[in-house]
Parts: sequence; structure tokens; C-alpha cells
Amino acid sequence: MTFTGGRAGYAPGMRRRRVIILGATGSIGTQTVGVIEHLNALALRGAWPCAFDVVAMVAGRNGASLESLARRTNCPRTLLAEDAGHDAARLVRDTPCDLVVSAIVGLAGLEPTLAALDLGLDVALANKETLVAAGPQMMARARATGARLLPIDSEHSGVWQVLLGAGGEAAPPGLTPPPGARITLTASGGPCLHTARADLERVTPETALRHPTWRMGPKNTVDSATLMNKALELIEARWLFDVAPGDLSVVIHPQSIVHAMVTLADGSVLAQLSRPSMAYPIQFALTFPGRAPEPPRVTGADGTPDAGAPSGRAAWGTLEFVEPDPERFGALALAARVMETGGTAGAVLSAANEVAVQAFLDRRLGFTQITTLCARALDALARPGEPDLGEVREADARARRFALGALCPA
Ligand code: NDP
Repeated sequence: MTFTGGRAGYAPGMRRRRVIILGATGSIGTQTVGVIEHLNALALRGAWPCAFDVVAMVAGRNGASLESLARRTNCPRTLLAEDAGHDAARLVRDTPCDLVVSAIVGLAGLEPTLAALDLGLDVALANKETLVAAGPQMMARARATGARLLPIDSEHSGVWQVLLGAGGEAAPPGLTPPPGARITLTASGGPCLHTARADLERVTPETALRHPTWRMGPKNTVDSATLMNKALELIEARWLFDVAPGDLSVVIHPQSIVHAMVTLADGSVLAQLSRPSMAYPIQFALTFPGRAPEPPRVTGADGTPDAGAPSGRAAWGTLEFVEPDPERFGALALAARVMETGGTAGAVLSAANEVAVQAFLDRRLGFTQITTLCARALDALARPGEPDLGEVREADARARRFALGALCPA
């Protein structure tokens, strides 16, 4: 849904979309602001038919950055909600809007995202942890209200775009692969792809945070190094596109140019390619079903420009694809286990991983122990079944307690 308005500078009758950005101060949030500025500049020049108004922004605790973004975008409402997911949900319910960008990291994003789905709004979804923990519940809400989940995660945006090209007509949850299709997500392999297996346990936060192709927040960057990010993305894809776990796989592709491939029943493989910049999937989620001129090289939350090759085939050089080593990347086996168990397993994995990653960044846990700790939490706590949201939250809380207890045994 859009409305028209008469803001200074825009042509009369210009379509406008009102956007709420959850997690505005983070890597995805700030890049979303950059993409919106790009689209609004195009709209002012008459080169794009729709302008965007940021009507509310939510962050955790970085008030200075939030206020600065609010000034930059003329956003009238801001909220710091580190310990108040229900306040963020209320803000979503109380602020008329057309699209919610869900880019809070971790399960903290669940309540406001559910609020948006309950209202039947379009949700541009970056936050994968919510789908990992509560995928069936979120998809059921979206189906019930007609809300659309527009993937921002680059691999899922890639799958979405391929499926649109392969004859799909809609967005999740109303978009599923054709019969017999298999989905492959690419993984860069992260900064430790070539580290000898024996040296992995000595990987430091500095090394793990030095991602070769993507500029992301710290949690996502460490997840990329352990391949837990890909594990979470497999589970995310399972729910988003309603695919059987056996039809999902991962391939290591260090250049991060190909984001996803779909193998169709006839053996044809369709892929989506772009420079490794989150600006592309963010922009597509904002402009869907249209395609605006290419986004600029926007900067991440830390002010660094996105990495990777410039646009264009010639600049991309050789594209490599390598099967992941399951011994080295134990997180992928955990994803398979979570998809097989179902129930609370996703919530347990995601929560234990959040605690483990923070402990690694605080130098309280070794790099390889992140995955080990998650496996132990799954052993102890994951239960099959069809939990309600209360049980999902309880599983999340238990997994955090378990992981914290394992860090500091009594
Ligand atoms: P960042 O760590 O850079 O940013 C996280 C954002 O969430 C910040 O705005 C932070 O606010 C806010 N936040 C954290 N805790 C809370 C809370 N309790 N309540 C409200 N807001 C909170 O993360 P990213 O931008 O990298 O990632 C965001 C999500 O997008 C993650 O789920 C990630 O998996 C996903 N994603 C990210 C990609 C990327 O390239 N970065 C790619 C694909 C998916 P504050 O700054 O105040 O702490």
C-alpha cells in the first residue's frame, strides 16, 4: 500500500512509502538509510516513481547514532528498546506505515516483527534469528494476515529473485519453488577459509572480524567465520520458501558474486549474481516488484565502504565453487540436526550461538568452541514438536542460561 503526498521538491502525486527501520543503527539499518537516500534522490530527479519517508526508527542503546540518523532522514519517531521488545512492537502498531525493515540482531527482533506481520504489513526481513527460532509461527502469521516477507539476506533475496525469474509471481509466504527444485546457498567461507584446521582454535576476534567480502555487524561476521551464518540461513530458507531440508545445500564461493542457485527439475541451474553489497538486496526489497537504477556503494555502520569487486562481469574474474568440508564447518551439521528435530531446536541453536559469539568476542571462549557449545545446548535442550511462541521464548531463555552456565561453571 502506498499513499501520495506533497513534500517539497517531489512532483505532485509522487507515490510515497512510509518505512519503519528496526535496528536502524546497525550495518543493515544504516545501509537501508543509504539506499533510501539514493531512491529519494532518484525520485526528486523523476528517475524513480516512489519516494520513501522514514516514519520511525528503533535501535538498542546507541542513542547518539539513532538521533543522528533521525536528523539525517527527518524521521519523527525514535526508540531505544534494548530491554523493551514490547515497546518496539507498540511503536510498530502505533505508527502508520507501509513497510517495516526488520534488522534488529537476534531474537530481540521477534516481537516488533510479529507486530508488523499481524498488521499484514510488508516486512523486509534481514533478521534471520527470528525465523530460525520461530519460523513456523512467523510464516503462519504472515499467511493469516497476507503480510509479505521480502528477504534482505542476500542469499534468500537471490533465491527469491531466481524464483520470480523461474515463473513465480509473488513473495514469501506465497512463493515456493516449483516441484523438484533444489536450492543452493553460497557461502564465502569467511576469513578462516584457508586457516589450517589445527590452527582454528587459535583464531582471534580480530581475525574472525576481518571478512574478505562482506561488511557486517560483529555477530554476523563471526557467524560467517564459523559458517554458523550459513547454518542459520539454511534454516531460514527452509521456512521462508517452505522447502524440504533435503532440497537445501551450501557451496563455498569465495568471491560472493553468486548468491544463490536453484536447480530446476530439468537440471537447469538458475543463479542470481551481483557485487557483494547488501545495498542490492535491500534496494530490491524496497522497490519490489520494480527495479531502480543500481545503488551506490553505501557504507556500513562503522563507516567503511562495502567490500568486493565493482559491478560487471569483467571485474569479477574467476568464480570458484567448492564443497564445504563438514569436519571443518561443524555448524552445517547442526543446521541439518535442527531441521530434522524441529520444535524448539532452532531457538536453542540461535540463542546458544548468540551467547557463544559474544563470549568469543569477549575472549572468554575459543573460536572452535562456539560450535561445540551450540551442539551441547542442542543435546541438552532441543525438543521436537510444535511449540507455541511462549515455549519458543522459554527455549531461548533456557539455552542462554545453559550457555552462560557452561562458560562459568558453578
Ligand atoms: P548490527 O549488530 O550491525 O546491528 C544490530 C542492530 O540491532 C543495531 O541497530 C542495534 O542497536 C539493534 N539492536 C540490538 N539489540 C537490540 C535490542 N535488544 N532492541 C532493539 N534493537 C537492538 O547487526 P547487522 O545489521 O549486521 O545485522 C542485523 C540483522 O540482519 C541480523 O539478524 C543479521 O543476521 C541480519 N543480516 C545482516 C547482514 C549484514 O550484512 N550485516 C546480512 C544479512 C542478514 P544499537 O546500535 O543501539 O546496539
